[in-house]
Amino acid sequence: MPRAILVRFPGRPASSRIVVARGALDRLGPITRRATAASRVALITDARVRRLHGGRAIQSLERALGEVSTLLVPSGERAKSARQLERLWEAFARLGLGRHDAVVALGGGAVLDLAGFAAASWQRGVPWVCAPTTLLAQVDASVGGKTAIDLPRGKNLVGAFHQPAAVVSDPDTLATLARRPLRAGLAEVVKMGMVLDAALFGWVEEHAAALRRGDRAALEQVVRRSVAAKLRAVHSDTTEREGGTRVALNYGHTLGHAIEAAQGYRGLLHGEAVALGMRVAGELSVRLAGLVPEALARQDALLDAFGLPRRLPGLSFARLHAAMESDKKRANRRIRWVLTPRIGHASLPRPIALRLVRVIAVRHGARA
Ligand code: NAD
Repeated sequence: MPRAILVRFPGRPASSRIVVARGALDRLGPITRRATAASRVALITDARVRRLHGGRAIQSLERALGEVSTLLVPSGERAKSARQLERLWEAFARLGLGRHDAVVALGGGAVLDLAGFAAASWQRGVPWVCAPTTLLAQVDASVGGKTAIDLPRGKNLVGAFHQPAAVVSDPDTLATLARRPLRAGLAEVVKMGMVLDAALFGWVEEHAAALRRGDRAALEQVVRRSVAAKLRAVHSDTTEREGGTRVALNYGHTLGHAIEAAQGYRGLLHGEAVALGMRVAGELSVRLAGLVPEALARQDALLDAFGLPRRLPGLSFARLHAAMESDKKRANRRIRWVLTPRIGHASLPRPIALRLVRVIAVRHGARA
């Protein structure tokens, strides 16, 4: 993938300029001006990211666009609430933010999801730009235009597809990220290799040691390659239609989401739960989709190399099943699994006999 790529999404007047480069945060202002023609911007971030990386972002925005209004939101999932969304709308109203202005999001996936939805809903949609600062947000949440907030009864229940006008990913911002979220982000990279891109998977295997220690050049490469892989999946399927290419991204998520929900979103990180979901989905793929055992061993070895969990955290299978059921009810369909017949490919989601899921989940540590 070149340093900047212009993506036009078919069927809708949306395009995104995606820049992945070390030091790119210093170009946030000019990139925002070019992508949005904004005369003013509201920068949305949290206090920690503001302290660590806000200086560079604000300086660049101010040079290119004049005064910037910074709006702070809580860090992590707490940002994604109706209350915080309303606070942003109130602030936009005070600032007189209009369609010729822009919202800029700086932070992890939670800040991006909230800010993107605030931009999607304000005055029926104002342009937005995102500068992701976690590995998960750089490889996943910043690409594809999904935005959302949570409700007490479930995650991501209210949201919209709203493509950012630009994505500015600076892998150097990952230097301040703790080891655990870095590795959780690598789980999503392994997933993209498993179901979308065999070459990405092989590259990650070769560079596992460098990635694990947070080597900056390796991170820049992996973000670039993962963004390219995700773009191929979302480009022709902007709204996740039934049977579309985007469903492949749900590999490992049937059980992963259930683990997160069963722990009240206060246990494993998303990527850690997905890693466990992939171990189980991988074994189901060997049984049902023709994945060769050696390929499963390669997947699990890579997850091990990144220090991702091997055992389900003491949850009963009944609890996990209930969580999968309630996720399914939300989507108004049966519990379905994305499997992989071979590395780099995914099969369409399908229902699987509960007995078999139980046997494999119990082998991975669920209580029977
Ligand atoms: P997060 O946004 O929940 O939390 C990130 C935490 O890391 C915050 O406390 C933040 O202050 C801190 N942080 C951010 N950047 C940092 C840095 N460079 N150095 C040090 N600390 C830093 O975590 P996340 O994993 O980035 O995102 C998870 C969220 O993303 C979930 O809400 C999930 O639903 C969403 N998501 C959305 C999509 C999508 O397509 N829209 C895809 C995947 C995940």
